[in-house]
Amino acid sequence: MNKQAVKRILNKAHDMCVHSGNRLTEKRKRILELLVTSKIPLSAYEVASAYNETADAAMPAMSVYRILEFLESEQLVHKLTSANKYVACSHITCDHRHEVPQFLICGNCQSVKEIAITKSIIDDLDLQVKKAGYKLMNSQLELDCLCDDCVSKAA
Ligand SMILES: [Zn+2]
Ligand SMILES: [Zn+2]
Ligand SMILES: [Zn+2]
Repeated sequence: MNKQAVKRILNKAHDMCVHSGNRLTEKRKRILELLVTSKIPLSAYEVASAYNETADAAMPAMSVYRILEFLESEQLVHKLTSANKYVACSHITCDHRHEVPQFLICGNCQSVKEIAITKSIIDDLDLQVKKAGYKLMNSQLELDCLCDDCVSKAA
């Protein structure tokens, strides 16, 4: 991703925070930038060490967690529950409403793609869960995949 694209994302993220009455502080912005520019999802620990590599003062792990939580609440980053890692939202510069995100995760190169699944599929899932006597608490899907690159390399 080029510098301009990253800047556009960070500017839009800043506007989104202002819109919701919050502030994208320099630290929050830097952490978001690390995730936006990372090709693979990062754990909180990996985010912290990447941050501390370039920062003047080391940030305690607790602060990193709090910032990730904040960015998650603003839908600027998403948490992959299965891997316990974070990815930047790929729709930050979009103007459409954010749906429940679904993720395709390549088991070989760890690349992740955020996709939108037809609402009717999620509704059906919800219905089946209800019928089974459970309540769906999180309809975010994380699907184990191989990306096209890895498929063609393996062939
Ligand atoms: Zn998203
Ligand atoms: Zn979008
Ligand atoms: Zn792959």
